[in-house]
Amino acid sequence: MTKTAESKSSARQKLFVGSTFTVSALTTLVLLGPAGVFATLLFAPVIAAAVTKSRAESQTDHVEGPRGLISGHLSRFLGQIGNPTTTLVVEIDDYQRLEEVYGTDVIETALTFTQSVIEENLTDQDVTLHLDGARFMSALAPQAPINTETMLNTCTRIQHALGQVSQATDVPVQLTASIGFVTSNKLVRPTAETMMQAAFSALSEAKRRAPGAVRAYSEAISAKRASQQRIAKDAKHAFEKGEIFAYFQPQLNLESGTLSGFEALTRWHHPEKGILAPADFLPAFEQAGLMPKLGETMIKQALQALTFWDKSGLDVPRIGVNFSTSELCNPRLVDQIAMHLDVSNIAPDRLNIEVLETVIAQETDDDITGNLAALADLGCGIDLDDFGTGYASITNIRRFSVGRIKIDRSFVTGIDTDDEQRKMVEAILTMADRLGVHALAEGVETRAERDTLQTIGCHDVQGFQIARPMPIQETVEWANAYFARVSEPVMLSRRAS
Ligand code: C2E
Ligand code: CA
Ligand code: CA
Repeated sequence: MTKTAESKSSARQKLFVGSTFTVSALTTLVLLGPAGVFATLLFAPVIAAAVTKSRAESQTDHVEGPRGLISGHLSRFLGQIGNPTTTLVVEIDDYQRLEEVYGTDVIETALTFTQSVIEENLTDQDVTLHLDGARFMSALAPQAPINTETMLNTCTRIQHALGQVSQATDVPVQLTASIGFVTSNKLVRPTAETMMQAAFSALSEAKRRAPGAVRAYSEAISAKRASQQRIAKDAKHAFEKGEIFAYFQPQLNLESGTLSGFEALTRWHHPEKGILAPADFLPAFEQAGLMPKLGETMIKQALQALTFWDKSGLDVPRIGVNFSTSELCNPRLVDQIAMHLDVSNIAPDRLNIEVLETVIAQETDDDITGNLAALADLGCGIDLDDFGTGYASITNIRRFSVGRIKIDRSFVTGIDTDDEQRKMVEAILTMADRLGVHALAEGVETRAERDTLQTIGCHDVQGFQIARPMPIQETVEWANAYFARVSEPVMLSRRAS
């Protein structure tokens, strides 16, 4: 750490030391009376020396320390008869990226600025401490009858003030924060611990709507949090218990009317909660480091599906598998995929890697660049998912050997009635054409949308209008019924044995 960063960090640490005294003096006053306070102050330099340890040592304490202090203040506030107390937790959005982009000095200045912004928007009796990394926590003294609306106003003021951070950093940093809070009268038997937990639950909820969201704790949030914790706990055993499945959604080529492929979409057959969609469990998998395992399970099931279709005589040229940023960073990814392709004897060009446009647009990670280049070299197709939501440059579309763009559902919905929407998709199709890449429209829900897409020259479509994602066992029967209905023969595979 540089000298400036160190001095700023120790300035915030001094604040921590100051708060330690507030607590020890108050606690001592309660426990030992005035004589005890005198004794504590007499030994203050000794305590101060103990607290001002080397930075390395104190960082370990720092995680527990500020939480303990906030807990102490909250217990004291809860003990005061009258108005409720509130605790508030502020987390700077996208902190890791900010640190990478701007470096430690700027971030230390931003942290000091954040602390002062929070303090300026609270009263002198309230206490705010830097918890760790991006997070700050405040305990608000029970001075006035506080309600959710006044707290929301305070949080909005804090967020607004954080927008001015560049005045402190001298570089154009964009700072936003997510905030969660709870007022003690929202809990049945509030304790310092339950209040802090409730504030963190509210923060988690705010972070789902980040950047810059505020959430007040409610019972619904608490129920949701309990369910998420349950999912996180069960996730560890989901794979060994064989509960993770690939479902398959067909993709149709509009020109030939035949299947251009399927997309593999994960589902968790949870023993109690039923069939869970990715949005219900991917965040827990990410947190538990289970994404590489998910990727491998999906690849295996996708390749098994191709083998199954080949044997059944259903012509499925390709299968698309989704990969998140964390999976794309895995240095073993390419070897694993190559090995599974070899074992199942499937040609690499039948596997499409679906990558979000946002990943390619922001991508600075060498591992991702290397993996995507190696997968393209291997012969796999690269599909750019949710196209239109991530601002990928034309250079990146070329650099990453993208073979197909998947136009996001938000551009497709209502394309038959909305002229602007249609013009936008036409422009995307022209661009795709010039770049020599294919285009698939996602989320096609009506026949009219599909017909419009066909008229304007979109190659492939995918959506509920054709079929919802389904388990492997249903795919062949679906295809037979579907093609019989549209009077188009099921394409008998050249690969059929
Ligand atoms: P995605 O890759 O954009 O997948 C398309 C999503 O849209 C799927 O939701 C699909 O069920 C849904 N969809 C398809 N057609 C329609 C339609 O006509 N209307 C509407 N309203 N929705 C439609 P799903 O299966 O819930 O997946 C959500 C997201 O989760 C996926 O979005 C993908 O980003 C992620 N995901 C799914 N499976 C995996 C996986 O195995 N690995 C990773 N890393 N991510 C996955
Ligand atoms: Ca996808
Ligand atoms: Ca998509």
